[in-house]
Amino acid sequence: MKHFPIFVAVEGRRIVLSGGGEEAIAKLRLLLKTEANLTVVAEDAASEIRAWAQEGRLTLISRAMEPGDAMCAVLFYAANGDDAEDARVAALAHRDGARVNMVDNLHGSQFITPAIVDRDPVTIAIGTEGAAPVLARAIKADLEAKLPASLGVLARIGKSFRSAVEALPMGRKRRDFWSEYYFNKGPRAIEEDGESGVQPALENLLDTYLTDTREKAGHVDLVGAGPGDPDLLTLKARKALDKADVVIYDRLVSAEILELARREAVMIDAGKEGFGKAMSQSEINDLIVSHAKDGHQVVRLKSGDPTVFGRLDEEIDACDAADVSWRIVPGITAASAAVAGIGQSLTKRDRNGSVRFITGHDMKGYADHDWRALSHAGEVAAIYMGKRAARFVQGRLLMHGAHPETPITVVENVSRVEQRTLTCTLGTLSDDLETANLKGPALMLLGLAPRAALQVAQDISIQEVAQ
Ligand code: SAH
Repeated sequence: MKHFPIFVAVEGRRIVLSGGGEEAIAKLRLLLKTEANLTVVAEDAASEIRAWAQEGRLTLISRAMEPGDAMCAVLFYAANGDDAEDARVAALAHRDGARVNMVDNLHGSQFITPAIVDRDPVTIAIGTEGAAPVLARAIKADLEAKLPASLGVLARIGKSFRSAVEALPMGRKRRDFWSEYYFNKGPRAIEEDGESGVQPALENLLDTYLTDTREKAGHVDLVGAGPGDPDLLTLKARKALDKADVVIYDRLVSAEILELARREAVMIDAGKEGFGKAMSQSEINDLIVSHAKDGHQVVRLKSGDPTVFGRLDEEIDACDAADVSWRIVPGITAASAAVAGIGQSLTKRDRNGSVRFITGHDMKGYADHDWRALSHAGEVAAIYMGKRAARFVQGRLLMHGAHPETPITVVENVSRVEQRTLTCTLGTLSDDLETANLKGPALMLLGLAPRAALQVAQDISIQEVAQ
């Protein structure tokens, strides 16, 4: 981050702008939304600027900028549309001690103005450090469409009601009150009775919350985080993360997804990994239950789908034993995302009417399976936790008569930017894996090759046949 976003206090303070043309007008349109004292210095100001001056919305000094004009200004804009003049006035403003922005000159600027979504007092600033103004505009348009126009009104009325809400205990109850107001009661009041309906709705809501003295019980959401790409989270998972008090997550949950948890949530790394372990399962169970018992919304966040190799039942049993309510929020399992990544489907008519999800190793070591059935041509299996068991799996399958040319695709870091695909055959699997030296989580797809590679392989065999 080369620019740190902050909100500058400008109420009643000076902002000075030099320039009287298009560039100046564009900036002034934004600056006029503030409660700053605006001064424009321009030898030749456009009629729009002169009109604003006549309305008393800004002070116009009709001459070229001179030393001292930017004295005591918090911000200064050089907006002459003329590089030489901008450089001259910027130097003067620097000497006057103002923070300087030169329009369309990133390097000459001490601060830059973001794209702004204005729902005053809710203000969203979007910056790309000058890299992609088009992107900033697109994000702005998206947010403008998403955020109801009434948001500003609700926030303004809400702000004046904050001290009354201090009657509620801090924390969960207060938060619930505000989210009920912003997302339910507030918008509804505006819809039904307009702005005047908001205050009575707030008072009613507060009464309800004050008379309801029951402690809210805690709750556990067992949430699938998907394979890593935040876009593969379900909306339910996002909502659960939005209101979590505590998030207990596994090692494989990606950093981008953890970023989406509520800012104030307590984040606990339960980082279990392969053969080793950071925290024992019973410690995790105790942690989940004790936070829920304290009345917290707990999100137990697991990679992929929580019902696939996630030791979910043990956690559910712990919740049941402690009489804690729970809910499963499914996610996209690594197998689904991996086949998507190689353009294949898990089942296919006339190839395989069933698919198995198996582990390469379990608690006791290498896992045993029905190797004979898995060795049949056309069988498809997604092998989780299989990297270190590759040689074992390979040996078992070959021993039970699987063809060494059986395709196996290993997909590492499924759905993440570092995703890598290794196309092997059963015969070369363990050597290929050793050479590739994969560091991230990897899923092995027995019986599947990437669609393009499959195509090439078919083309080659067709050529061979033709020769
Ligand atoms: N519940 C998870 C699986 C947990 S077991 C799910 O549904 O996906 C952990 C194993 O899942 C890893 O050893 C690896 O084989 C696989 N896995 C999880 N995330 C992965 C990813 N992003 N890329 C590749 N494999 C992944």
